[in-house]
Amino acid sequence: MHEPTDRVRRAERSQIRVMYDLAARTEGDIVRLEVGEPDFDTPAHVVEAAATAAREGATHYTSNAGLPECRRAICDAMATDYGVEHDPEEVVVTVGGMEALHLATLATVGPDEELLYPGPAWPNYVTQAFLADGEPVEVSMAPETGFDLDADRLIDRMGPTTAAVVLTTPSNPTGRVYDPEAIRAVVEAAADHGVYVIADEVYAGLTYDREPRGVAALCGHPDHVLTVGSCSKTYAMTGWRLGWLAGNRDVVDEILKIRESTTACASSVSQHAAIAALTGPQEPFEEMYEAFRRRRDYVVDRIEAIDGLSAPRPEGAFYAFLDPEVEGDSLTFAKYLLEEHRVVLAPGSGFGTAGEGRLRLSFANSMDRLEAGLDRIEAGTASY
Ligand code: PLP
Repeated sequence: MHEPTDRVRRAERSQIRVMYDLAARTEGDIVRLEVGEPDFDTPAHVVEAAATAAREGATHYTSNAGLPECRRAICDAMATDYGVEHDPEEVVVTVGGMEALHLATLATVGPDEELLYPGPAWPNYVTQAFLADGEPVEVSMAPETGFDLDADRLIDRMGPTTAAVVLTTPSNPTGRVYDPEAIRAVVEAAADHGVYVIADEVYAGLTYDREPRGVAALCGHPDHVLTVGSCSKTYAMTGWRLGWLAGNRDVVDEILKIRESTTACASSVSQHAAIAALTGPQEPFEEMYEAFRRRRDYVVDRIEAIDGLSAPRPEGAFYAFLDPEVEGDSLTFAKYLLEEHRVVLAPGSGFGTAGEGRLRLSFANSMDRLEAGLDRIEAGTASY
């Protein structure tokens, strides 16, 4: 019998996608607050730079690691914006942060080895561990602390088969920006255990209450930290599929070998777009960032004023992780909110065991839609 491998069969569809599809099939005025991408279009100067590059012949493969000027632009932006220092030779331009995480997992996690991550977390780490024939292990963080990074819990779970730990800061889905002391403790313990740290920093540009600093920058750039970044969220470029992985030369060289046989390189046109985004005028991005900050403040105020609803204060990204005082599981409640109140949220159970009972609200939407959505959530929470 021909059977697809366990490796691919173990993967499950994300519950965010389930709600997305249900919403797409529902007619009428629906407020969509489940989507994890900026509602802003890519700024015109970026689009123009890409169009010019394509017209001028940037339509070929690039080297596996990416265009030298793109790697240089990434290094400069990482250093200036997050204090993360790398040479261009230590950077691979990838097809979104997604590919960078997939490659980092493949390069660090072997068969039956563990990939640890603090929960609740973005569900793709689970599938990425499966694709490496490894074991994803969620280490639940405490809701009382707003799911802040509890270094001891994570370190206690590191064992002889642990190969890598993912730290996502700012976090999807909680919006938490991890405390530098806790990050340092995890990174130091990981060194002692021979464990890699994969720092998922795709939301680093959207940090509201403190200076954004990369994990590597906070820890003196040790060799076992691999940094993942992306143009998707910070530069409103999700569809261009442009991200990066930065780390020590040994890992990067290994990754470049497998890369020849996976995607070969990121889109040449998108690499030119990234150069324009990283090195060109920053005003459009600053305006977007300020809009997210205003929306964050609005959402926080509204949640505080709603009976039976709370959420840890989002310090980064564009998510509020709602804790509604209702009975039952989060998927059923999310479906109820869609069917009866016409507002779409991502069920917390989609982000692991620690997320059950919660709902993720994305404030990557206009103030009008947020206001309407929160009115509906208020009504739905009261009537459930
Ligand atoms: N990491 C996290 C935590 C995310 O939420 C996402 C996208 O939603 C990604 C990585 C990957 O983003 P991209 O591949 O668009 O850069």
